[in-house]
Amino acid sequence: MRVSISNDNGILIKYRNMRIALDPCKAIDTDLVFVSHAHIDHAHPQKDDTQVLASKETTLLAKERGIDIGRTKQELEGFELIDSGHILGSRSLLIDGKILYTGDLATRPRAFLNKGKSTKCDILIIESTYGKNSFHFPPLAKLLDEVNRLVSDLFSRGIPVVLMGYPLGKAQILSYLFSSWDPIYVHESVQRMNYAYSKLGIKLRDFIPYQEAVEKDLLKRRPWILISTMWSGRTNFIKSLKKRYNAVTIAFSGWSMEPNYKYAMSFDYAFPLSDHCDFDELIKFVKECEPKKVYTVHGFSSELASYLKRLGYDATSLLSSQKSLDELF
Ligand SMILES: [Zn+2]
Repeated sequence: MRVSISNDNGILIKYRNMRIALDPCKAIDTDLVFVSHAHIDHAHPQKDDTQVLASKETTLLAKERGIDIGRTKQELEGFELIDSGHILGSRSLLIDGKILYTGDLATRPRAFLNKGKSTKCDILIIESTYGKNSFHFPPLAKLLDEVNRLVSDLFSRGIPVVLMGYPLGKAQILSYLFSSWDPIYVHESVQRMNYAYSKLGIKLRDFIPYQEAVEKDLLKRRPWILISTMWSGRTNFIKSLKKRYNAVTIAFSGWSMEPNYKYAMSFDYAFPLSDHCDFDELIKFVKECEPKKVYTVHGFSSELASYLKRLGYDATSLLSSQKSLDELF
């Protein structure tokens, strides 16, 4: 088969006279657009007449964020949408049973999310956000135990806690995993996405919005938890929470494995709870797919491709400006 793959406006695949755009960064004239999930770096408005493949959840979550990705369908002959475990509704795309594009991928189950599924393919296009051999995330149970012990210690001293993560995806996981604490308030951006998740069948506790807690003067009754979007410790918002209530911030991101992350962002604590695969999980996923050719995209794509080559794979990093790589099998 002859396939042409390029990475310009998202990844463009030419396969059997069809031009397929994977997570294009802007509207594109093509036969088919695939939107893997509703994060704003992946979901963009498309023209009315563009054929768009995306899950129902991705379409609705994008709409909640003010992005109309067009008239989407969830099924098309020759294409299979597979759970990628990254956020609610995130999907990988299997083209003709041969080419697998992972989109953002997480293969460890978290809260209400199942693991991203691998499948046998000839060509694998895999994300490599944490594709460097220093990103090894701890088991979820161990991380949860550590965080709960920390919160317990802070609560026993009457210290409020701000749990921070991206408003779509991570914040809902935090809302689920830490829901047994009380009281919990939520930042408005998190509340909106929690509500959208609830509409899609993920029942999250109905927390009091932060603004309402401020208006009712609830914050002076300490301790409490606020689930919030990520704020650097240098923002006025966090500075004022610290000054008024002595609040402590805990951030959740895979990047917290980087030595300087916590200090660069001025977080009090940071834990590697990620919505992506760590290095070992990426390698395991590749092995399970048994591909003849691997393309790595995003993040540490060169590092992952080099490592895969050492394991004997035909692997290439697809950098963002790269055009038209022709492959013949
Ligand atoms: Zn994402």
